Amino acid sequence: MTLFYSHDPGRTRAMASGIRPLNRTLFSRVPATRIEVDLDAIAANTRLLKQACTPQTSLMAVVKANAYGHGAVHVARTALSHGAKWLGVARMAEAVQLKNAGIDAPVLVFGDTLPDRAVAATGHGIRISLTGPNAARAVNAAAGAARTFVTAHIKIDTGMGRLGLCPGLNMDQTLADMRSMMQMDHLKVEGIYTHFANADAVDKTHAKQQLALFTELLDRLDAENRLPKIIHAANSAATLTLPQSHFTLVRPGIALYGLCPGPGVDGSTLTPAMSIISKIAQIKPVPKGFAVSYGSTHVTDRPTVIATVPVGYADGYPRRLSDTAHMLVKGHRAKVTGRVCMDFTMIDVGHIPNVSPKDEVVVMGTQGNSTISADELADLSNTINYEITAGMTGRLPVCYRQKP
Ligand SMILES: *Cc1c(COP(=O)(O)O)cnc(C)c1O
Repeated sequence: MTLFYSHDPGRTRAMASGIRPLNRTLFSRVPATRIEVDLDAIAANTRLLKQACTPQTSLMAVVKANAYGHGAVHVARTALSHGAKWLGVARMAEAVQLKNAGIDAPVLVFGDTLPDRAVAATGHGIRISLTGPNAARAVNAAAGAARTFVTAHIKIDTGMGRLGLCPGLNMDQTLADMRSMMQMDHLKVEGIYTHFANADAVDKTHAKQQLALFTELLDRLDAENRLPKIIHAANSAATLTLPQSHFTLVRPGIALYGLCPGPGVDGSTLTPAMSIISKIAQIKPVPKGFAVSYGSTHVTDRPTVIATVPVGYADGYPRRLSDTAHMLVKGHRAKVTGRVCMDFTMIDVGHIPNVSPKDEVVVMGTQGNSTISADELADLSNTINYEITAGMTGRLPVCYRQKP
């Protein structure tokens, strides 16, 4: 197993040269508190998702939000070399970051994009999303003024209630809007897509209703010979559980990172890619009645040992985990005591023999036979695994593991 340490371009500063391999002498530069991303896990998850589809369906790796906290450039490169053909991001700046890192694959921006930015980017293999004729007119005008054209995918709101044309409210209007967008001289409508609100649920009724409405729209477009070339709908959950939604392209995100999208999906074959590793900063034997951290919410009920770990809510470790979560030391679970601070969190290691200041702390991930999963931290902080990893955006440097 090789360990790469990289100031990820999206995370700390722009860096075009990519991964810097670490030799033994450089090894000490790996920071004590860090995110470790297993690129072999990303590769395996990409292959698994690809295998869930027929060969006719392409795979778009969704790497928005710095690849859900995993580092967009390295995740993108890994997914592309294991079967992904496309990349998906939320913002134009994220697409530009991938292009500046030298990635050739087509990139679709899901969010809305200012017309002049759309025009500037489109020649570089970046596609934008259009939510309706007003957005399309503005982009078309900007593209016309620049004597160029913009490649776009039209977004259809079949029940997500977020962005796009709403065929469920008015099918004829949706078709009329589509026709007008497709006739614009400086737009090339390459794709059409929708997004599921509940594909991760056990009950697929809503997802199937969305799919039926989308399919009805596609049939009407086909009857007019106006069906765009690229058709897509499936997020991770639909990629794994609704093959009838695969069309020509699937757009998994969370499953690439080895995490389960929700209760209606079996995530047991996925491999989580992210760990959070730290190192004890100080160890303190304390008597009974010793107060720990802000607010003195925790007062020891026995003589014990408190270890201070340099990870805090400014790193993305939720403050909601105060007094509830665990970390791993020497393969044992150690409870978070007192409030999570901005830069530090204290744990009780009184029950673990021979703890020393050099000991590694697994904040999230596996150590020995014990695991702290993103799902466990999500449950304890009343959120979803997506927010746990995507929240790790701040200060923590990312190290990448990859088998040579
Ligand atoms: C985030 C996103 C996805 C990926 O969703 P997952 O649930 O992470 O698989 C797919 N499509 C769009 C439009 C998205 O915004």
